Amino acid sequence: MKLNDPRLFRQYAYIDGKWTHGDGGREEAVIDPATEETLGHIPLLESHQIRAAVEAADQAFVQWRALRADERCERLLAWYDLLQANREDLAIIMTLEQGKPLPDARGEVEYGASFVRWFAEEGKRTFGQTIPSHIPNAALGTIKEPVGVAALITPWNFPLAMITRKAAAAMAAGCTVVVKPASETPFSALALAELAERAGIPAGVFNVVLGDAAQVSDVLCHEDRVKALSFTGSTPVGRLLLEQSASTVKRVSLELGGNAPFIVGPDVNPKEAAFAAVAAKFQTAGQDCLAANRILVHEDVHDEFVEYFAERMKALKVGNGLVSEIDIGPLIHRRAVEKAASIVDDALSRGATLVHGDQSMAPGPNFFMPTLITDVTSEMKIWREENFAPVAGVTRYSTDEEAIEMANDTEYGLAAYVFTHDIRRIWTMLRALQNGMVSINTVKMTGPPIPFGGVKQSGLGREGGTAGIEEFLDTKYYCLGGLGSVSGS
Ligand code: NAD
Repeated sequence: MKLNDPRLFRQYAYIDGKWTHGDGGREEAVIDPATEETLGHIPLLESHQIRAAVEAADQAFVQWRALRADERCERLLAWYDLLQANREDLAIIMTLEQGKPLPDARGEVEYGASFVRWFAEEGKRTFGQTIPSHIPNAALGTIKEPVGVAALITPWNFPLAMITRKAAAAMAAGCTVVVKPASETPFSALALAELAERAGIPAGVFNVVLGDAAQVSDVLCHEDRVKALSFTGSTPVGRLLLEQSASTVKRVSLELGGNAPFIVGPDVNPKEAAFAAVAAKFQTAGQDCLAANRILVHEDVHDEFVEYFAERMKALKVGNGLVSEIDIGPLIHRRAVEKAASIVDDALSRGATLVHGDQSMAPGPNFFMPTLITDVTSEMKIWREENFAPVAGVTRYSTDEEAIEMANDTEYGLAAYVFTHDIRRIWTMLRALQNGMVSINTVKMTGPPIPFGGVKQSGLGREGGTAGIEEFLDTKYYCLGGLGSVSGS
């Protein structure tokens, strides 16, 4: 691995400002999904070491929360500057462990860093309230206080941004964090720790633990000193962590799976809509919770849409993300390739039509060629499950009511896309769709100021925006009595 700064590549956990190996001597290899070569090894920590990280975070919380908001802001901005300065190395590490093309990895570093800058400033605006008093001679109000230690458990598809979107909010609020990255992509998290240290973030404020996922999560969820759990990942694991966190009644926020509908109205330019749908489907090789999972196209524009979609996707280049001009990298591992193949087979066996997608062209065992299938129906797995692969499924519809019913026919409710210029249709769909986020006539919708999150079984709470920092704050109410006559109370 050729980095400008090799010290960004760390193969230890990071607890209380110290690089730490596993006490039991257990290790795990981290694999480059493009080549299946071993990139390095990470320690698998023992349960007592996870507790030590919580203890360190709990100790550090005392000092960190006592800093003024502008002092925390300065430290976070220093971290932001280092993320920017080391952008290229961070992107290389990400492409190697996750597989996404280098330009996308650079984009993620930029995106991830933007949360640090945004929350650094937002930490200065955690205002309480003054409440007009209903009690004689009293002043009433609220103060916002950090909840305490936050455990952050993150997935492999966005190895850096899913951490900063949580950690920057928590740290700006005055919380300390214990991060458990996905074991497939630990090196981005460890590079973040190295840069946090260089930025002067005190020991114990930002910790990274590594180990067996179920074991680590079990400790974090049952630890009473962990006051908030913020998880991004699949719905089944989210459900499990919610259940485990009940034992200590933690604040829980969950960013879970999606099954995004992409609705194309009868009035749109089918070429523009098709190109937008390709962008919404194939980023990160389709391994994106926002990926268009069910493409619903009005019958008037269906055939043209499919033609343009196929034309555009045929131009996508598949290969190792380190090579220039690659659009689609590998999937994260062979299991993901097998799942994609089974989803396509299931759809074809139930009557779907394969328009494009020749797997014999795949450049390696972890690659899946972009695939387009039409005539998708609701009995197929591709309809029910988040396919998390470069597989696009198209369904034809006739009326707006039908499109809405189809779009809502899922337990998920993260993002939805609507393409139409009819203002009444836009408003009707916006109100009827059971999703936390609706993107209209564009596929680019995320960023630091927005409340990212889902409804139904796509999660609880929001990340980003003013709502994002609230996940890490308690509201303390005060009633200051015996004041005599308080004017305006
Ligand atoms: P995952 O649920 O398998 O893993 C997420 C994290 O949980 C990882 O750190 C993993 O090590 C840990 N984990 C796995 N099994 C566990 C267990 N039994 N007990 C405790 N912890 C466990 O998800 P993934 O495959 O890494 O990521 C893909 C999923 O994440 C998709 O469903 C995707 O939609 C979702 N996602 C959601 C958002 C969002 O913002 N809503 C963003 C990105 C990804």
